[in-house]
Amino acid sequence: MKVFKFGGASVKDAAGVRNVASILQRFKNESLVIIVSAMGKTTNALEEVVAAHAKQTGKAQELYDALKERHYAIMRELFDEGDEVFAAVNDTFVEGEWVLEDKPADNYDYMYDQIVCVGELVSTKIVAAYLTKAGLKTHWLDARDVVATDNTWREGWVIWDKTKANALKIVPPMLAQGGFVLTQGFIGSTSENFTTTLGREGSDYSAAIFSFCLDAESMSIWKDVPGVLNADPRIFDNTIKLDRLSYKEAIEMTYYGAQVIHPKTIKPLQNKNIPMFVKSFLDPEAPGTEISSDTEDTYPPIVVVEKNQALLHISTLDYSFVAEHHMAHLFEKAAKLRIFVNMMQNTAISFTICVTNVPDRVERFINEISNEFKVKKEDGLELITVRHYTQETIDNLKKGKIVLFEERIRNTMQMVVKNVPAIERKEVEVAGSKA
Ligand code: ADP
Ligand code: ASP
Ligand code: MG
Repeated sequence: MKVFKFGGASVKDAAGVRNVASILQRFKNESLVIIVSAMGKTTNALEEVVAAHAKQTGKAQELYDALKERHYAIMRELFDEGDEVFAAVNDTFVEGEWVLEDKPADNYDYMYDQIVCVGELVSTKIVAAYLTKAGLKTHWLDARDVVATDNTWREGWVIWDKTKANALKIVPPMLAQGGFVLTQGFIGSTSENFTTTLGREGSDYSAAIFSFCLDAESMSIWKDVPGVLNADPRIFDNTIKLDRLSYKEAIEMTYYGAQVIHPKTIKPLQNKNIPMFVKSFLDPEAPGTEISSDTEDTYPPIVVVEKNQALLHISTLDYSFVAEHHMAHLFEKAAKLRIFVNMMQNTAISFTICVTNVPDRVERFINEISNEFKVKKEDGLELITVRHYTQETIDNLKKGKIVLFEERIRNTMQMVVKNVPAIERKEVEVAGSKA
């Protein structure tokens, strides 16, 4: 069997759902497990509902109703009035409403998971019903019956042996009845049957979980780009599509923040040597990118930009050296508060780290260490990572930027930069020169 994953962009409207059905027509006779995300920007909208409910702004229900209406509008385009899918989707929306009727839970992240899961539950009900209507027999599966996690809300840790046992018990018998199995990305459940989510953009990871547990022949994720490109096309012109990538290169790229694939996705596939394809849902015949163990020795420069970075310059209050025990203490705090340290450098009396500027967390970190250290924060920065860099690429990337911090290790170059105001980055080219 194979695993396919269709992300939010592929099912953002009725035309998208029809397109997914037409892609799947080509695989009618194959044994497929299909993972589908929430439609379009639904998860962002649900995050707003959760925030409004937590703050009791009085707007949560209104925001939720608007989201419901967007789904019903799509369904009216796809189904006849009175189709049973309307009742099925409504039942799922009502489950979210029950949470909104209660007073907000003390644990924000727990409440988040119970509401946000509605996005993938309704999208999969809609897509499964549409495929069935289009003559493609499809079994809808609740991913929470398979993906077992601990109760780290919003970042559930997969309990692999349990998940694998569930997958092997439930999925093969469904496939044996003929037709596709279609389920949600992004969600799982705890041993007490509470819903968890796996982290934003986690549907790619869900596809890898199913692929790993079911020993899939391959996994394909269908995106709105021709494949993995050597830079984010929303930021750069003249990007190059990479035909093949090794698991290692893909892990490095996603670790540094390439948003095209969720960073946790590749490792489970590599462990079982399952090839992964990144394909375009806009051009399904095109080959896309293959990620596998077959390594390619030469890559063009690959650029990853992580926005929303801050530099923290840390020194001791008495200007003594920042010694190992200080660092041990700082990292312990960072780990506890889930602060991502992306780069670091120490001099005799100061220690500088580049962190992802997650609101609240970084401020809390600074507060918690400020009785022992002096901290200066510089925000509004970007971290640019270039794999297989050439001097030409680096020179181009530096145009219009002030470089605050730079490091080169073998074939990876990283720099923390800020914009010189009023320079348009679209002028910069990253493509062209082969390393
Ligand atoms: P999904 O619909 O599956 O959630 P995403 O929107 O998360 O898909 O990922 C696809 C997007 O990732 C593309 O539209 C593209 O703008 C962006 N992207 C960022 N970096 C890259 C890259 N190196 N190659 C391809 N796409 C990239
Ligand atoms: N719907 C979730 C999100 O937008 C998961 C995903 O699409 O991968 O983060
Ligand atoms: Mg996504």
